[in-house]
Amino acid sequence: MRLDTLGVDRSVSVLFPPEVLLETLGDLPVETVLIDGDSNTDSNTTERCDGVVTFEYRPSLLDASWVHSVQAGVDRFPQERFREANVRLTNSTGLHGDAIGETVAGYMLAFARRLHTHVANQREKRWSRPEWDEPWTIAGERACVVGLGSLGRGVVDRATGLGLDVDGVRRTPVPEPGVHRMYTPDALETAISDARFVVLTVPLTPETEGMVDADVFAAMREDAYLINVARGPVVDQRALVRALEDGGIAGAALDVFETEPLPESSPLWEMDEVIVTPHAGSATRQYGDHVASIVAESVRRIRAGEDPVNRVC
Ligand code: NDP
Repeated sequence: MRLDTLGVDRSVSVLFPPEVLLETLGDLPVETVLIDGDSNTDSNTTERCDGVVTFEYRPSLLDASWVHSVQAGVDRFPQERFREANVRLTNSTGLHGDAIGETVAGYMLAFARRLHTHVANQREKRWSRPEWDEPWTIAGERACVVGLGSLGRGVVDRATGLGLDVDGVRRTPVPEPGVHRMYTPDALETAISDARFVVLTVPLTPETEGMVDADVFAAMREDAYLINVARGPVVDQRALVRALEDGGIAGAALDVFETEPLPESSPLWEMDEVIVTPHAGSATRQYGDHVASIVAESVRRIRAGEDPVNRVC
């Protein structure tokens, strides 16, 4: 594959300024250019790029030979079309473990130590101590981490460090350091049934879409919290709202939703035991630099006739 010109699509600005990438990649032996999906020159510009680094998918990207997603999830990229057009697709998995791990640890600590309630009270200038039996400590509690890749690893490391006992779910049930019992997806309901925290870190695929449904909520403990940092459609959101309203589970921390931004009409905004974050669980000021390191290695490999890093198809 020829790689002389690399485009950085302006859509990456959802996560970091494109200039960060352009600057860091400036030393590569390829021409790097900013391309703009909204401008009329889009397809022309994309056409002359051999590779494109992007947040968004649009059909004109298939004019390139290689497309790199600045996200780990590529559920918005039609892989069949990439295969048909013989365009290589790569993703940014591997970057998010630390940031997501810390975000998930933050959710867990907030629920146990009641920090979200204290912040809500502070907004109202209300001095209100919790009931004696409300606060708890997470040490000794059990978490079940569903998906044990880059995100899952980051979560397991923080959770074990905080004294939780961790179980895991993945399709290939190989032993994983720090994971006590490993289950396969067909045993999901058993796996999550005694967990205080159920943490979702799977990709969105036909198998994982809707995998957390009413049956799974029914199998969860009533004092359990769901934490979703994967993708919204992994959870049946209506079933989640019902489980929260009926007291089937204690609460949820949600970074991702069926529809993003979360519509104003969603009852999730108003629930005391729900923490809503705006798909920002992996955000960090180092994000652009981390993506640049993956892209630089892929450029090196492609120019050496090798496969790029994190090839999806
Ligand atoms: P990885 O590919 O590193 O890991 C995915 C894990 O999920 C693997 O352990 C895989 O193991 C497991 N898995 C896949 N299918 C299933 C299934 N059906 N049931 C149970 N486990 C399954 O991906 P990442 O950890 O980098 O990212 C995971 C997802 O998280 C991304 O696809 C993205 O959607 C989301 N994400 C969200 C972010 C945010 O900001 N909130 C940031 C980054 C990612 P096995 O193959 O053995 O099943």
